[in-house]
Formats: sequence, C-alpha cells, structure tokens
Amino acid sequence: MEILIGKNSGFCFGVKRAVEGVEKEVKKYKKINCLGEIVHNEVVVEKLQKMGVNFIENIDEAQNNSVLAIRAHGVDENTYKEAKNKNIEIIDYTCPKVKNIHEQIKKADEERYKIILVGKKTHPEVIGSKGYAKDVIVIESIDEVEELSDYEKVFCIVQTTFSYSKYIEIENKLKEKYSNIKCVNSICPSTKNRQLECQDIAEKVDFMIVIGGKNSSNTHKLYEVACKVNENSVIIQDENDKKIEECEKYGIIGIMSGASTPDETINKVVEKIKATCQEE
Ligand code: SF4
Repeated sequence: MEILIGKNSGFCFGVKRAVEGVEKEVKKYKKINCLGEIVHNEVVVEKLQKMGVNFIENIDEAQNNSVLAIRAHGVDENTYKEAKNKNIEIIDYTCPKVKNIHEQIKKADEERYKIILVGKKTHPEVIGSKGYAKDVIVIESIDEVEELSDYEKVFCIVQTTFSYSKYIEIENKLKEKYSNIKCVNSICPSTKNRQLECQDIAEKVDFMIVIGGKNSSNTHKLYEVACKVNENSVIIQDENDKKIEECEKYGIIGIMSGASTPDETINKVVEKIKATCQEE
C-alpha cells in the first residue's frame, strides 16, 4: 500500500495566522468573541471554545467594551463601525489577500465601475467583500452572465477560494459580453495549487480521500475536482469516518485536505489508513 499526500494539504497561510493569533490572544484576554467559526473545522473550533473563545454569528451579540476577533474571511466595513460604536476592541485576522479584495472593490466603486464579484453568494468572504461598495453584483455561475444588464465600464473580481477552472470560464464569458471590463483574478495561489495538485494526485491513485469540515466550501470544491478524474473519491471530516475502511481494497491511496484542516487531523487519517490496511 502506498499513500500520496498533497504537499499543499493543511492550513493555508491566512487560516494558520488566524488560528494561531486567536490562540495567543485568548491566553492574554482569557475570554474573547470571534465573529463566525474561525475555520470550518469542528476539532479546531472545540479546542478554542475550551480555551475561552466564544463564537458569535453577529456583532449584536458582542457586549460593549469586549474583545472581538475577525477571522481570515474578513467582514464588511459596517462591522468595524458598529464595533467602534460599542467600544469593542478588534483583533483583525482578515487574510491580507482578502483585505486586498476589499481595497480593490472600494477603489473600483470610487472610480464608478459596475462591480461584479464572482463567488458563492452565501460564503462569508463574499458577504464581507460585498460590503465595501454600495452596489456589488455577485454571480456564481456562467448562466448568470447572460442575465446581466449592459454597463459602461465593469470591474470583476473573484472570491479567493473559488474554483479556478469555473472562474476562467466565467471571466471569458464576461469579456465577450463587455468590451470595457477590467478583471482581477484574485483566486489565492494556495487555492489554485491545492486544486491542481488534488487533480494530479486523484489521477494517479486508486482511491482518493479529501479531508475537510462539513461546511468548508474549498474542501467541497476539491472533492468535485477529484470526482471528475477518479470515481473512487470520498470526502471525510476526520479519522472517525467509516469511508476510510474502503482503502483496504486499493493499492495506492491519495490524500488532499481543505485549507481549514489541521495537520493533526491529516496525520490521524494516515495512521487510520495504515492500521486499516495492516488488519487485512
Ligand atoms: S485561502 Fe488564501 S486568501 Fe483565503 S485565507 Fe487562505 S491564504 Fe488567505
């Protein structure tokens, strides 16, 4: 039995920075709020809760004069204003790449571009980024391009974890529709490399395992990528998933994880695979 583990597996830079930062701050403040799950990973969330991090869904739940951590996905501009009004101290772990999207959207708005944001409408990063201009159109499929009205000048930017291949299709369609369009491909290299490597590994192996949280959209995209080239692909959250047991039927097993999966979980999955295959 051989196991191929993606080099791009594990936390991305932005998530690592946020998780380590919140761990450090909670030791200092003893109790802090964090707006939304810091990562879509139950293991990490539970560990931080035990340390004193209270995860809230809305800034209205934060008490006056409290401390509030912002996760890598970022938040809309209004949240900072509300925090100021409530004298809340912000510890900002918005990923610098997401901050850059916010700045670009603000600038495009000032320059009177019609802004199109390509991304999953319900994704927290997209909801946050949308809040940096008065009117941002969010699209997530190529079919929606047809429905767009005509605009004089258009600015297009994309969610950092959006599917690379899907975005290129949408961008090409937008360029056909608008002669005066400026497109910024803001897909994070970490996302793109992970998706390309996932495909590469899935093509080589007999059984492909994608690890990540149930709500992690980047993990689901990796799974889609793997399924396209390898029908023996599964998605699991951690080492307790029964689907791992299928590996005993195969010779070469591939592993790739989403950006919110800690190395600890990947190592436990590898141990479980080895134990399962040895039992044979
Ligand atoms: S995927 Fe990229 S942009 Fe998103 S948090 Fe990670 S490093 Fe930042």
